[in-house]
Amino acid sequence: MTPKVVVLGAGFGGLELSTILSDTFTDGLDLTLIDRSDHFVFGYSKLDVMFGRETPEAVRLYYRNIVKPGVRFRQETITAIDPVARHVTTDRGIYEADVLVVALGADYDLDATPGLIEGGNEFYSFQGASRLREVLPAFTKGHAIVGVTSTPFKCPPAPSEAALLLDDYLTKRGMRDACQISLVMPFGIPIPPSPAASRALLSAFAERDITFVPNRLVHALDPARRVAILDDQSEMAFDLFLGIPKHRVPAVVKESGMTEGGWIPVNPTNLKTRFPGVYAIGDVTSVGTPKAGVFSEGAAQVVAASLVAEFQGNEEPSAYTGEGSCYVEFGANRVGRVDVDFLSGPSPTGSFLDPSTALVGEKEHFGASRRRRWFGL
Ligand SMILES: Cc1cc2nc3c(=O)[nH]c(=O)nc-3n(C[C@H](O)[C@H](O)[C@H](O)COP(=O)(O)OP(=O)(O)OC[C@H]3O[C@@H](n4cnc5c(N)ncnc54)[C@H](O)[C@@H]3O)c2cc1C
Repeated sequence: MTPKVVVLGAGFGGLELSTILSDTFTDGLDLTLIDRSDHFVFGYSKLDVMFGRETPEAVRLYYRNIVKPGVRFRQETITAIDPVARHVTTDRGIYEADVLVVALGADYDLDATPGLIEGGNEFYSFQGASRLREVLPAFTKGHAIVGVTSTPFKCPPAPSEAALLLDDYLTKRGMRDACQISLVMPFGIPIPPSPAASRALLSAFAERDITFVPNRLVHALDPARRVAILDDQSEMAFDLFLGIPKHRVPAVVKESGMTEGGWIPVNPTNLKTRFPGVYAIGDVTSVGTPKAGVFSEGAAQVVAASLVAEFQGNEEPSAYTGEGSCYVEFGANRVGRVDVDFLSGPSPTGSFLDPSTALVGEKEHFGASRRRRWFGL
């Protein structure tokens, strides 16, 4: 009998897993992939959208393009998950699974930062990034702060990228001399696992007169006085605030009872949860890698290999290593690359390729190859 696989969430993790299983089980797969949205967007496309490099429509990848043998996509909102019975309820129906994979990502809690909605902006959601297309053209002078409000947060290089791309944006429009840019980050250096990438970023900030404020979070905004209040109670005046909002699991995951300390704990070697037959991958977990698409994808590959081994009676695959490469926008049409390994050794290690135009092409290839593999585009 063909086991019923139900994958919750069609982001980086869910798309990769469904694709591998469809490619492997060419004569018999019963996989349902559920997402509330009708499209996927790469995280980095939000930077392209906010700075006007792409339109919102140009970066949407519609799930209706998924044509994979054995995979049924359902656009439905998941309203309850019972991990013991492997039973999922949506706004349109009920699904019973032999194997359940939770890949629902991280949601944002904008209310957790007082004043953020009234006095600031965020660029981590697609709506927030799209809205900034209207806000940024009106910013012609004053102090812009890119600020992290809480940890953990997705794609640790993204705040640094936003500060550098803002510098580019203002320079191109002839406004840079009238503006200051500060970046408030909770770490001592921009990307702690990669000192080389951090050095390159710090020197790019120095060249471009971007003030790096280390070891701080923004706790609140006071919209009336236009000041950001940091976690040591110090204040920074701002004219434009670009925030990284607090992250949390989607409400349906919290209500499922699967979380501990806010995220789903998994066995880091095989991504199994404590519930038999239930895996969790990507941003929704506390596996120990950063919250980034490449790591969700790597976790999906390990789960796929494990399911192939189980269904075909082979040996378990080798353990998840938490390896991944992240492209980092440096502005001026240059991209750097950080290669990191989070789980193989006692502590994370990373290496860095200097920013270049060649890596711009490599990043484009990264996106194009996923578009082709997942959506056939
Ligand atoms: C500005 C920015 C830049 C980034 N740049 C990069 C980068 O360069 N490289 C990189 O690797 N990562 C990057 N990321 C991070 C990356 O986007 C995420 O880490 C990645 O998408 C996580 O994949 P996932 O599969 O775990 O979850 P997601 O891709 O978030 O997918 C989760 C899915 O679950 C669905 N969902 C949630 N709740 C429900 C529900 N109740 N019912 C139905 N569906 C639901 C959502 O609609 C979503 O499609 C960036 C992120 C941001 C914000």
